[in-house]
Amino acid sequence: MTERLIVAAASGAGLRLERGEQLRIIDVEGGQTGDLVAISADGRQRLCSGRTFDYGGKIYVSTGDTLWSDRSERMLTIVADDVGKHDLLYAPCSIEMYQLQYGVSGYHANCHDNLCAAFRELGIEPEPLPSSLNFFMNADVTADGRLSILAPKTRAGAAMTLRAEMDLFIALSSCPVATCNAGGAIKPLAFEILRA
Ligand SMILES: [Zn+2]
Repeated sequence: MTERLIVAAASGAGLRLERGEQLRIIDVEGGQTGDLVAISADGRQRLCSGRTFDYGGKIYVSTGDTLWSDRSERMLTIVADDVGKHDLLYAPCSIEMYQLQYGVSGYHANCHDNLCAAFRELGIEPEPLPSSLNFFMNADVTADGRLSILAPKTRAGAAMTLRAEMDLFIALSSCPVATCNAGGAIKPLAFEILRA
């Protein structure tokens, strides 16, 4: 059985995954990045970039790699990946980031608020929100540690599939940062939940 969900451009959504179920993330139009945060169904464990770096021994993840929790348990495994480049370094964009880096004075749609709202709709308190898996985001690190954000490698129809290794709440956001999306228009994303 497959459930399909569309997340509108610059907005978010939440879902529940049971252990063994799979989530397929699809870049419908191409060039769109997004953020994913996972919290265990009991609320005690959160996605942790640092632990994922510890146990994977690298900062880039793709097929076969596991995303770990802050309590050192396996949360998600990437079982298929058309894109092969994602980011685990950057925190989700937030209203403060738009104010500090882009000079925005009023409100701006942002992944932090999208993700928090999606978790709250599921009845889970997300804050403090951990760093996200920024799927399809193409960030490079130079030998001296400098970061740059490049155009995403994802194309229309490209997808990645993750398998839940525990019962999870998941929040997703279509990222509204133009820099992450090659300066183009912000687009929707699609998600399919593949239940056993
Ligand atoms: Zn964002």
